[in-house]
Amino acid sequence: MMNHPSTYKGRRVVVLGLARSGASVAKVFHELGANVIVNDKKERELSPEADELAALGINVVCGYHPEDLISEDTALLIKNPGIPYTAPPVAQALERGVEIVTEVEAAYFLSPAPIIGITGSNGKTTTTTLIGKLLEAAGMNPIVAGNIGRPLCEAAIEATPDNWLVAELSSFQLKGTGAFRPRVALLLNIAETHLDYHGDMDDYINSKIKLFDNQTDEDAAIVNWDDPECRAISALLTAPQLPFSLYERLDTGVYIEPPYAKDSAGKPDDGVQRSFVYSFGDGNVREVLPVSELGIPGRHNAANALAAIAAALAAGADPQRLQQPLRSFRGVEHRLEFVRETAGVSYYNDSKATNPIATTMSVQSLTAPIVLIAGGLDRGSDYMELVPLFRDRLKALVALGETREKLAKVAELAGLARVEIVEPNEDAEAVLREAVRRAAELAEPGDAVLLSPACASWDMFASYEQRGRIFKDSAHTL
Ligand code: ADP
Repeated sequence: MMNHPSTYKGRRVVVLGLARSGASVAKVFHELGANVIVNDKKERELSPEADELAALGINVVCGYHPEDLISEDTALLIKNPGIPYTAPPVAQALERGVEIVTEVEAAYFLSPAPIIGITGSNGKTTTTTLIGKLLEAAGMNPIVAGNIGRPLCEAAIEATPDNWLVAELSSFQLKGTGAFRPRVALLLNIAETHLDYHGDMDDYINSKIKLFDNQTDEDAAIVNWDDPECRAISALLTAPQLPFSLYERLDTGVYIEPPYAKDSAGKPDDGVQRSFVYSFGDGNVREVLPVSELGIPGRHNAANALAAIAAALAAGADPQRLQQPLRSFRGVEHRLEFVRETAGVSYYNDSKATNPIATTMSVQSLTAPIVLIAGGLDRGSDYMELVPLFRDRLKALVALGETREKLAKVAELAGLARVEIVEPNEDAEAVLREAVRRAAELAEPGDAVLLSPACASWDMFASYEQRGRIFKDSAHTL
């Protein structure tokens, strides 16, 4: 088990992977007197952080993995979450019995502030951001960090006991934890994503469970009561729980009153007035806000709001102060983001929808007929689960990227009359612009054009952000 970073003074600590989180954790250990070696396979020119670390006197090795990197005297390996355990230096550390952690484990030891840890397959960034807003409004001084952008280590050393660290955590980050103990742990949902990294579902679920491993009676566990995998995990937990549900009344939990009908996902709204409510097991049900006043659209976002309310309440927020941020929160860029309306057609950027479930949620959230732009990195799935969604909700599909043929086939099976494929060329930006142009042609007044790719962006773009920005620019210049 890793110990407090100060105990590594004078000892060899290897930081593998020089992204922002690697640089941040390297600096911390260096300042605490450890003998830090940072290593990245990438060429030095590609790592803007390298020079800064070297100037501090940290040993930075780029371009290859030295054979003797994990030497006999290595006390700790801190690896970037994206580096697999099969990578040679990590495999070597495993063989030698060297402790392997991710940066968030170090952050846990460094933080004087309690931590709210948020994980799940979909909705992490939205929920994490919303929790930040709720705690802000409740006067609880949140610092939002983790997988969301700012390294958790950096936030941890800045924090005081009066802050709350609101940490978005990927399963990759959690896999490298041991002592990590969030005061409030939130598991949003479990979908079959990332199987190419984790190998199988058990491994993926195990890394999620790690979030709860060290919790005690003083902590709180929040799980999605509507997700069968989460419910199974909930049965294994010992910390007090505050589950959330769209579909069931809970004795202790945060839910919708009256609950949605169980089979109503994706169906037209029934017009019933509903509220976000909570109950702490004392028989009293208290309202937080009418669901219609939530600032972000869609059933999935109602689930995200339930989760965020539960986390805020578990952290001790005053329920009276949660209304205003729930009303004013407009979501996060690239998540079902409204871009513009032109010629009667609304354009939405949902570039962050990198798996079929995320795309399903977004498609179901819009009421207008949809011209969908989808496709991207091929991870081997056939997307057949999308046939009913395409049949019921789409007017047309414009497919691009590696998965274009597969998605076009799904659309044909769904009986869509208009399916277009944009063939690839060297200029990925031009391909996406062409897709937007064709979608605009297919759309009629009252329709929505939605970029929600159901796939990662790396076959064509550096990131989903780049893909989303090009989409927005194309929509603005139609
Ligand atoms: P993450 O950080 O987990 O990737 P985001 O909040 O960035 O999640 O949302 C990414 C996409 O996932 C959104 O564009 C939306 O399509 C979908 N999504 C958001 N919340 C949920 C949810 N609770 N369940 C299923 N899908 C969701």
